[in-house]
Amino acid sequence: MACATRGPLRSRTMSSSSTRALAGRTALVTGGASGIGRAVATRLAADGAHVVVLDRDETAAKEVAHEVGGDHLVADLADRAGIEALGLGTTVRADILVNNAGFQHVAPVEEFDPDTFEAIHRVMLQAPFLLARALLPGMYAAGWGRIVHVSSAHGHRASAYKSAYVSAKHGLEGLSKVLALEGADKGVTSNTVCPGYVRTPLVEGQIADQAATHGIAESDVLQDVLLARTAVKRLVEPEEVAALVAFLCGPGTDSITGTSHLMDGGWTAA
Ligand code: NAP
Repeated sequence: MACATRGPLRSRTMSSSSTRALAGRTALVTGGASGIGRAVATRLAADGAHVVVLDRDETAAKEVAHEVGGDHLVADLADRAGIEALGLGTTVRADILVNNAGFQHVAPVEEFDPDTFEAIHRVMLQAPFLLARALLPGMYAAGWGRIVHVSSAHGHRASAYKSAYVSAKHGLEGLSKVLALEGADKGVTSNTVCPGYVRTPLVEGQIADQAATHGIAESDVLQDVLLARTAVKRLVEPEEVAALVAFLCGPGTDSITGTSHLMDGGWTAA
């Protein structure tokens, strides 16, 4: 595990002259080098936050951090020791934690590689717990914090062949609620955002797998599989998810906690 930063990482004070909604806040965004995480990093920075991009690819993390005027950290979130070596809560502090990193693997349960199942749970459930655990004392001491977990419509519904992903997202919904209860009297909120299919590399990578698993052409996967249960027949854009995350971190949200916000084009309404 490598760890790198572009400079000292400290939670800033609210004395910034900027009037932007998140001026003076520091936000840690996992998986911030790609897709939804990259859009979140860009949006939170535009709203005035100092953004720390955490990802496993140093070049990509550094590039996004440079774009948003922030810092970067490198870690494999499947590696508990690597997370603990980041110095979160000591040398690295954050007022906002966006648990976003994740990946997908599609296979029937009887063929699902147990190591892959475990890795998905480590990255998408254990890491959010470890990151929150490390950063919460600083948030509690400051009397303010925002934790937003990028969950999924699969935090509420199941799909065949996605046993690890669906169970990790359902677990993340539970973790978020516990964090909300424990942080309620300390100024810390915890919420999830639950997109349907978003136009990112993660989804683009699923199309070939889904075509093979369902025995259909790749060109039919979008409408016949991914959007089959969705009323709004288009992919969600990463910037739409980022706007919802920014809202949950912004002003007037002290009482929004323990909630789960679907952005699934009506998938779960049917
Ligand atoms: P993405 O473009 O693949 O971005 C995910 C990022 O997480 C990548 O930079 C990836 O790095 C990083 N990551 C993966 N495993 C990691 C690990 N072990 N340690 C550190 N970083 C790691 O995917 P995305 O679509 O934006 O997904 C982001 C989140 O949104 C995920 O939690 C996903 O479940 C959720 N979500 C996505 C959709 C969708 O349709 N796209 C829908 C609902 C929810 P690498 O590129 O090196 O793998």
